[in-house]
Amino acid sequence: MKNCLIWFRNDLRLTDNQTVNLCLANNYSVLPVYIIDESMPIGSSSRWWLKKSLGSLCKSMSGNLVIIKGDPKTILKQLIDSYDITDVCWNARYSKQELSQDNEIEQYIIKQGLTLNIYHSTLLRDPSKTLKKDGTPFKVYTPFYKQKYSEFRYESYNYDICKLHYLPTRESKDSKSVIEAAVPEESWHKKLDSIWEPGEKGANTRLGTFLSSGLQGYAEDRNRPDLPKTSMLSPHIRFGEISIRQLSESIQDDNSHDSEIFYKELVWREFSYHLLFHFPHLIHDNLQKKFDSFEWENKQKNIKSWQKGLTGYPIVDAGMRQLWQTGYMHNRVRMIVGSFLVKNLLTHWRYGQEWFWDTLVDADIASNSASWQWVAGTGADAAPYFRIFNPVTQSKKFDPTGDYIRKYVPELKNIPSKYIHLPADLDENRLIEYGVKLDSDYPRPIVDLSTTRQRALDAFQKLPKST
Ligand SMILES: Cc1cc2nc3c(=O)[nH]c(=O)nc-3n(C[C@H](O)[C@H](O)[C@H](O)COP(=O)(O)OP(=O)(O)OC[C@H]3O[C@@H](n4cnc5c(N)ncnc54)[C@H](O)[C@@H]3O)c2cc1C
Repeated sequence: MKNCLIWFRNDLRLTDNQTVNLCLANNYSVLPVYIIDESMPIGSSSRWWLKKSLGSLCKSMSGNLVIIKGDPKTILKQLIDSYDITDVCWNARYSKQELSQDNEIEQYIIKQGLTLNIYHSTLLRDPSKTLKKDGTPFKVYTPFYKQKYSEFRYESYNYDICKLHYLPTRESKDSKSVIEAAVPEESWHKKLDSIWEPGEKGANTRLGTFLSSGLQGYAEDRNRPDLPKTSMLSPHIRFGEISIRQLSESIQDDNSHDSEIFYKELVWREFSYHLLFHFPHLIHDNLQKKFDSFEWENKQKNIKSWQKGLTGYPIVDAGMRQLWQTGYMHNRVRMIVGSFLVKNLLTHWRYGQEWFWDTLVDADIASNSASWQWVAGTGADAAPYFRIFNPVTQSKKFDPTGDYIRKYVPELKNIPSKYIHLPADLDENRLIEYGVKLDSDYPRPIVDLSTTRQRALDAFQKLPKST
């Protein structure tokens, strides 16, 4: 009988996971392991999620998941020796730091004469295989999609997880206290308990809800933060609690425009990973080098107002408060708050990336970095820098009744829809009639939109013309 160690990382699920499939197909005895590695820190909302997700995975393995905190190489060496492991498998990760850690461990495993299987179950396709015909990586989404994904068919693995045979473990079975000790939680995360259900079960419930009530009309309404039309699957996808193949398979026979647009969004995630894999400096540096000499202002006072949702622009404030209260923000609003931070407040995109990394439950190294570069205009296939979102126009278009604003900026709840997008435009006496006194109940706009727009365009003009 062979003993196989499955190293779980961003694939916290038993269903449709090639590592699990391997063990079942070969009748291996399995040692499932998760290592909490502090050399790769995650944000505080992600820690909350991870903790719950590990608890859920451990439960579905009847407590057999071994959770250990420490250096992966040291821990894996010890486990390989003490459990007579013959085979090791995992799903690949794609940042430079992760790849180099995996590479080092891979060398060790091979040197020991063990069999190693590496899969790509956290993506639809292995990014090293999605190159252009000339062998170079794509930098533009549309040809990437058309050439590599539009015709691709998916079939998830079908197996009976009850047949998985676990190696009897000598590690602590008290996973709850191991997780408690390894992943400290801050008290403000308590509020997340009522919103999210981390784990495979929660992921499948979200998918069911989306397929029955979100998908129809998705193409049109996915831009409306006031409507529950997007899947809200992102944190489940980020932690691999549901497979991206299963999601694609669930819509691929439905030939509707809504399904096609949803699938294209999943492929945006693939594109982010493609960029991360082929341009690993994406997480720190402008992909367009000319932006290295951009004159950012990075004013702390403005950054704080943005983080707290106190900019005086209701749609921006609603988004930033949604993030703080729920660990999530609607995609359209992410673009609006991002543009406001980078362009109107002339702040380097890395400040936004870091704040999102700490506060989003779906904080994802590839999607977060690529999306911030997209918003800032510094990335591959990015929105051009000179296209600056006007938060008031965006608000009127995508939150027409102001209900999204009312939900997260309740001090404005009595203002009629027509005025809610920019209360500061109203006469002060009228505002008082609606229960709002500027400066004490709600801030005046911290910057003027047209002046700051022009300032951003002037700064852009100073850049060298080439990328
Ligand atoms: C500044 C900024 C930062 C972002 N940071 C992240 C992040 O850290 N993690 C993250 O998962 N997404 C990020 N996104 C992308 C997008 O906002 C979220 O994936 C989406 O809002 C999640 O909500 P949903 O699951 O309801 O999306 P749906 O509309 O239901 O889409 C389904 C899935 O497709 C993927 N997806 C959708 N849009 C995108 C996109 N533009 N780029 C990459 N993948 C996408 C996600 O996995 C999402 O769950 C960011 C976008 C911006 C503008």
